[in-house]
Amino acid sequence: MPARLLDGKDLARRIRERLTGEVAAFRAAHGHAPGLSVVRVGDDPASAVYVRNKEAAARETGMEGRIVHLPADASRAAVFGAIAELASDPRVHGMLVQLPLPAAFDPVEVQAAVPPGKDVDGFHPVNAGKLLLGREDGLVACTPLGVMALLDDAQVPLAGREVVVVGRSNIVGKPVAHLLLARHATVTVCHSRTHDLAAVCRRADVLVAAVGRPGLVRREFIKPGAIVVDVGINEITDPAAARDQLRGQPERLARFAKNGKALVGDVHFGDALEVAGAVTPVPGGVGPLTVALLLQNTLTAARRAVGERA
Ligand code: NDP
Repeated sequence: MPARLLDGKDLARRIRERLTGEVAAFRAAHGHAPGLSVVRVGDDPASAVYVRNKEAAARETGMEGRIVHLPADASRAAVFGAIAELASDPRVHGMLVQLPLPAAFDPVEVQAAVPPGKDVDGFHPVNAGKLLLGREDGLVACTPLGVMALLDDAQVPLAGREVVVVGRSNIVGKPVAHLLLARHATVTVCHSRTHDLAAVCRRADVLVAAVGRPGLVRREFIKPGAIVVDVGINEITDPAAARDQLRGQPERLARFAKNGKALVGDVHFGDALEVAGAVTPVPGGVGPLTVALLLQNTLTAARRAVGERA
């Protein structure tokens, strides 16, 4: 039997629908909407799309959305000044600085200038520390929250189970490992130096891949019946890779032939369909949840700003 698909698009739609109601109630109770501001520095084209999507998503849920765009050659004073202005603006409850930044800026330093209570990306050292300490009064990175939302929606039991996370980045691998640990999973974190990655992954009841390598996780990595969550978003342009990665997906192969590119995950989808118990598609899996959880974090920050428990 082919693996069940964990539909992130549908879950994201349901979360956004719920948030729309909650935002309306917040506005009615407090006379203003939660506000999300996104700072973009420079002209990275992918960032422009991400930032626009975040602002549009905020507005669709009834929040105030705002983009602050600075040129690629913006001075330190201009960047830190813009962040300070948003930091002190009471209408801004959530804010983030879109990465990548121009090379002159250290992303960790820039993100540390965002007040922890407004840090809806969850990247501030205070929020990362709260996650490590198991405290629930911080803000947690959105993609890891999206992974948890998918697992919870599919009612995947976690306590006591073997979970393997491939990838140890600060924005996905490490925070998702801590969230899983907080849910009493037995968590193994793998990375580029892990020996016999396939054998370690094959132990997993739940396998989370956040690597950035198209189709790295193949059949021999997956325990039969395992739940596989694919965080990877990789563009492929090589026809041979597309024939392999999009095996069994004739419509997507036809689109590849037309456009010369396709998005695939870190998991070989065809293999996972045949071996796993459930798998997230790419696109349409974890991706859409990142923005939905960003909106959730913004509402949480706004509730805390007015003294509500959230
Ligand atoms: P990073 O490049 O920051 O981290 C990748 C991790 O994978 C590192 O820990 C690295 O190990 C490990 N790794 C790399 N190659 C291998 C390998 N061959 N075997 C085992 N481990 C390996 O990536 P991110 O965490 O930022 O992103 C991961 C993927 O998730 C990307 O495809 C990205 O596009 C996607 N992503 C998706 C999001 C969404 O909204 N769905 C949001 C964020 C990211 P080491 O530490 O040793 O270098």
